[in-house]
Amino acid sequence: MEKRLVLPPPLPPLVYRSSRVRIQVKALRKSCAPLYSSQYLFKSKHNPFAMSQYPDELARVAFSYPAIDNHAHPLLKEQHKDYFPFEGLVSEASGSALIQDAPHTMAAFRATIQLGALFGIPNPTWEAVKTGRQRANYNALCDISMKRSNIQCILIDDGLGGVKEFAEDYQWHDRFTRSPTKRIVRVEIVAEDILKDVMNDMLVENSLDPAIILRNWGERLDQELRRCGSDPTVAGFKSIACYRTGLDILQVSVESHGVELKRLLTITLLRYEATKTFRLAEKLINDFVVNLTLRIAQDCGKPVQFHTGLGDNDISLSHATPALMQPIIKAFPNTKFILLHSSYPFTREAGYLAAVYPNVYLDFGEIFPFLSADGQVSVVKQVIELCPTNKILWSTDGHWWPESYYLGSHQARQALYEVLSTCVKRREMTEAQAIEVIKAALFENSNRVYGLNLKPIFS
Ligand SMILES: [Zn+2]
Repeated sequence: MEKRLVLPPPLPPLVYRSSRVRIQVKALRKSCAPLYSSQYLFKSKHNPFAMSQYPDELARVAFSYPAIDNHAHPLLKEQHKDYFPFEGLVSEASGSALIQDAPHTMAAFRATIQLGALFGIPNPTWEAVKTGRQRANYNALCDISMKRSNIQCILIDDGLGGVKEFAEDYQWHDRFTRSPTKRIVRVEIVAEDILKDVMNDMLVENSLDPAIILRNWGERLDQELRRCGSDPTVAGFKSIACYRTGLDILQVSVESHGVELKRLLTITLLRYEATKTFRLAEKLINDFVVNLTLRIAQDCGKPVQFHTGLGDNDISLSHATPALMQPIIKAFPNTKFILLHSSYPFTREAGYLAAVYPNVYLDFGEIFPFLSADGQVSVVKQVIELCPTNKILWSTDGHWWPESYYLGSHQARQALYEVLSTCVKRREMTEAQAIEVIKAALFENSNRVYGLNLKPIFS
């Protein structure tokens, strides 16, 4: 299994931005002695990936080209760095399925080896990696993981549950990138926050008029999404309709479904009054939010990301295939749809949609590091078996732990190199074509689709 991983060193040597950081990295290694016995990880005899030079130009590009990470989430604040179980690095499971079972996955075995190499731990175990990171200087841990990811720009969805309480804001991540971080706005959270405000106002006024709730909420949501649409720090929108009510998104507007929307909003208000808890999970209301977003995104030219496929056990798998989105994709031909997470295990359906609709793009993220190495290679092959290579976008889905960015970048570069170098060897494409595909997948496609106007900056 790991033989495939005998590849060139993935990333250039660390470049320390300041003496403060240099001292932190030294402190990291010292604090975990003898974990940091080598000066540079990739010269370590314990590093299974170490090679003295790149074997070919394709490898040099695959392992050193700067990347745009088109979908990720914030890192935890230092004081909360151990708040969530670290097994979440390699699995979407929760509870005992996460703690007891995730360390026994191929993803965890490989992460153990790769993080052991990153931290300089000889003969690493999962527990040794966890202990090493717990003892480490957090700034240095973030720095070494993020710098080696060679990500030039991150598009951060900061609407993930727990971000406000435990994580850094999106701009904080600029310290690790050469271009400013931009936001992805999670629309269901915006819609919920505004609706809660509107309902609180209604309860204070002791009014239950659903027509006023719908009008006030609809107008304020429209205003806020349009404000985000014109905000240059916002790169796009994201919908989690997949988690809430499924990807069979209907065409819903006030004109076509006003009566039903008012009825559902009345029920929502009464439930909120009784329980003081609230979650936007009524199909017509959720689909209304997505339709409004798609219209505004079309007007402002910004893409809308959709969670598809792989997710935690909140998801109804049968409602997570992007094939269900065909009607809504057809209804909004001028809105850019980004299908996230390789749509795993529905990758081929997503590739088909991206192939036949000019406004659909396929993100091949989250499978790194959640799948085995063989699984990742298989998915990358499925992605490009039909989907045009100018429609594929890379992401880490990095979140909470800096190691998620490191593994997301390192493993994606390995899979791309393995798949494309094999195609070159078989004379299915030239090396020059393969190099262009890697540049497009890692950088150029996201740069164009999100209108970022960046130039690759090499460290
Ligand atoms: Zn995500």
